[in-house]
Amino acid sequence: HLGNSIASRDIASLLHPYTNLKAHESVGPMVITGGRGVTVVDDAGREYIEGVAGLWCTSLGFDEPRLVEAAVRQLRTLPFYHAFAHKSHEPGIELAEKLVALAPVPMSKAFFACSGSEANDTAVKLVWYYNNALGRPQKKKIIGRIKAYHGVTVASASLTGLPNNHRDFDLPIDRILHTDCPHWYRFHEEGEDEEAFASRLAASLEALIQREGPETVAAFIAEPVMGAGGVIVPPRTYFEKIQAVLRKHDVLLIADEVICGFGRTGAMFGSETFGLKPDIMTMAKALTSAYMPLSAVLVSEPIYRACVAESEKIGVFGHGYTYSGHPVSCAVALETLKIYEERDIVAHTRAVGARLQEGLARYRSHPLVGEVRGVGLIAGVELVADKATRQPFDPKLGVAARLAGFAQGHGAILRPIGDTLGFSPPLIITPEEVDELVARFGRALDDTTAWLEHEHRF
Ligand code: PLP
Repeated sequence: HLGNSIASRDIASLLHPYTNLKAHESVGPMVITGGRGVTVVDDAGREYIEGVAGLWCTSLGFDEPRLVEAAVRQLRTLPFYHAFAHKSHEPGIELAEKLVALAPVPMSKAFFACSGSEANDTAVKLVWYYNNALGRPQKKKIIGRIKAYHGVTVASASLTGLPNNHRDFDLPIDRILHTDCPHWYRFHEEGEDEEAFASRLAASLEALIQREGPETVAAFIAEPVMGAGGVIVPPRTYFEKIQAVLRKHDVLLIADEVICGFGRTGAMFGSETFGLKPDIMTMAKALTSAYMPLSAVLVSEPIYRACVAESEKIGVFGHGYTYSGHPVSCAVALETLKIYEERDIVAHTRAVGARLQEGLARYRSHPLVGEVRGVGLIAGVELVADKATRQPFDPKLGVAARLAGFAQGHGAILRPIGDTLGFSPPLIITPEEVDELVARFGRALDDTTAWLEHEHRF
């Protein structure tokens, strides 16, 4: 019945990332044709507030003309060049300078790639290279966390702590381990407050390092706020205690700022919000407001020095992509950073973020809502079958996906993650748009309640 519609062409031709492929063959796609500010429009002309900024990324919304002009200007001047074998170009140099200057801890150099996955993959390789340079080839294990999301390349999917990214892909690879998820609401024990929970997780990390042998553990990777794992905000004192363990065993810290970077948490980087002192930082998404693909890896001076020493032995630093620091992406990133500065996007995010958190917090007393959590302009609302016992819904019900479907009907796109709804709107969202987003979520929550009552005798 779909005929030669755009939906049937999609089903016939596209292998969709992150999609239930079987269901897609009958459901078909939602085709987005344009956008304005924080909204996108579908091919039937319906408008939606993009409550997740696409994939947590279009921080300046969907029609920022200055980013388009920056891209076109660069395309006309120098559409491509690279930085292999001593070549360079000004947009790349200027962006590296800017990022090193913006870093919340002293960083030495910036390396460019196209995606968050490639940036984290690069971080893994740099950690291994670093320890080879220091003459300790046995110190190679990297610890990620359960429910973390770091991407989908072979190494970054291994760092990711979600079963869908491992199962049947034969991952994780060797030398990558996972420690506890810092989600207090879900995983605390009876009577355990956030600080005690953080102490227990730090002790568990220490035990893991001891079991493996500290001489074999090279690095720990963390998102300041876990995004795709369900918007998990670290409990009080967590990073302070984790970092004490890392320092004790000479284990590097990689901060994955792919979602948190550039204002999302109400500071330029999530590392500032939560007191991380990373040796390596990875960033992407809001670096260009997602108008062009670009990611960056910032490395500390000791890591850079080790790269120099190791590459000297071999004659070359044997890592880099054709599109490492694509000039058009770099030009768009420079314009993005300029706009962040001119509009003080961090202060704006803090203000509208507080409004989003307060707006969602009003649903804490709702019978279906187990937890409302968040910081700045990132938030999660977790639904539960039983508020008192935190009993989750039967996953087969797909309650959060159902709510997201209702929200779409009310003109809001939200991200269902298990039983949690993720919020991460464009940073340019206005207070009125925040209120509207929250109101549309509220309507979808009412619909979900009615659906549960009528369909499932809840
Ligand atoms: N790291 C984090 C924290 C992410 O959220 C993502 C993507 O959502 C990635 C890494 C991977 O980035 P990409 O999809 O650009 O490879």
